[in-house]
Amino acid sequence: MEIEFVGAAREVTGSCHIVRVAGKTIVLDCGLFQGRRSESHEKNLQLPIPIEQIDAVVLSHAHIDHAGRLPFLVRHDYNQSIWCTPATRDLCAVMLADSAHIQEKDAEFLARRGKESIEPLYSLRHSTRTIELMTAVPYRRSFDVVPGVRAMFVDAGHILGSASVILDCTENGQTRRLVFSGDIGRSGLPIIRDPEPPAGADVVIMESTYGNRDHESVEGARAHLASVIRETAASGGRVLIPAFAVGRTQELVYDLHALAGVGAIPPIPIYIDSPLAIDTTSVFEMHPDLFDHGEDLVRTVHDLFRFELVHYTRDVEESKALARMHGPMVIIAASGMAEAGRILHHLAQGASDPRNAVLIVGFQAEHTLGRRIVERQPTLRIFGDDVLLRARVEIINGYSAHADRTELSSWIGRVGERSPQLRQVWLVHGEPPAQDELATTLGAKGLKVTCPESRDRFEF
Ligand SMILES: [Zn+2]
Repeated sequence: MEIEFVGAAREVTGSCHIVRVAGKTIVLDCGLFQGRRSESHEKNLQLPIPIEQIDAVVLSHAHIDHAGRLPFLVRHDYNQSIWCTPATRDLCAVMLADSAHIQEKDAEFLARRGKESIEPLYSLRHSTRTIELMTAVPYRRSFDVVPGVRAMFVDAGHILGSASVILDCTENGQTRRLVFSGDIGRSGLPIIRDPEPPAGADVVIMESTYGNRDHESVEGARAHLASVIRETAASGGRVLIPAFAVGRTQELVYDLHALAGVGAIPPIPIYIDSPLAIDTTSVFEMHPDLFDHGEDLVRTVHDLFRFELVHYTRDVEESKALARMHGPMVIIAASGMAEAGRILHHLAQGASDPRNAVLIVGFQAEHTLGRRIVERQPTLRIFGDDVLLRARVEIINGYSAHADRTELSSWIGRVGERSPQLRQVWLVHGEPPAQDELATTLGAKGLKVTCPESRDRFEF
């Protein structure tokens, strides 16, 4: 039995790991590399392994850095099952269609810059076919991925439908339990249930995005959101929030709903300026059974994502009209790292106004516009123009859907307590400083921890 790390190795994007058991090959996740455009395009063009060698794909969750290259496999004639949870499939239907659109835009952009024409990674046709290949299995139900590998999804508590994957691998009469954490969420996140650390692991592949940092608390995040909105509204400005359309936007709307309900924010309009977020909200509304029913709002309010202050703008003209409006407002738009999407128009127009606030509520990878905002660079390059960054920049880490340093340690601690035979932890999905610090912390607890490089292989 062997594991090979192909993506999200010493970095946070491009999640992809290859498991070989008894002559069969399973790909765990196949995500897009993101970051510097031309560089990531090159990486995205490399197939993780020849298609004919892949017997099945198992997908942890719908985020594009985990699922975004599946249509590229399909474009190269991948025609086997892709296993995931039902909510992951429904989210992927929305997200991979959007991703195909972005691929086409990116190819146009690169083609304009370079001399040769560049093909999009994939098109809508490939995204649609990808969804057809998906077999959805609810949490806590065992299924055979390939002969010799039995799997189960448990809730990773990260986004709707997100899973940690348990793979029981049997070869030559020996069975080993491989646990793939997927992206690990946090306790107390709005709507989403708490992560369930699996038991009985022999080896673990674990994410490490925030291995060297603690977040502010989830309750602190909500209070921080309220204060930024109150202060910006008082100065007559806009609150611009680049947010992932999937998950983060729904969490924000849910929190704004709760805050508006107790009068903690002024009654200013809130625009969700993202067709993708609108479609995603519909997917959330299809899966109320997955919500955390321990929360008051979930128990008492029927329409969690609809209330009088919130307006969803799907139409391009409606979106453009926001620029001409006056008075304080909140605008939530994708993309979450401000690399594409409608948020760019709002930033181009609003970043230079000191009355406004740019509110960062998610992880910002290196070389993204969002990271430059976090670093408070004096000038932002948007659509080829320099825009002065004079708006106030506020960062709320408490909305992270990723476990922080303490929560990661506690997750693996709980896995370890119930896994007497745990022999190895591989850290993935983290930049080197985060990984190295987490490796040291976990090593001090007696765990054997390795941070594999891309293309490293290990037997287990
Ligand atoms: Zn994720």
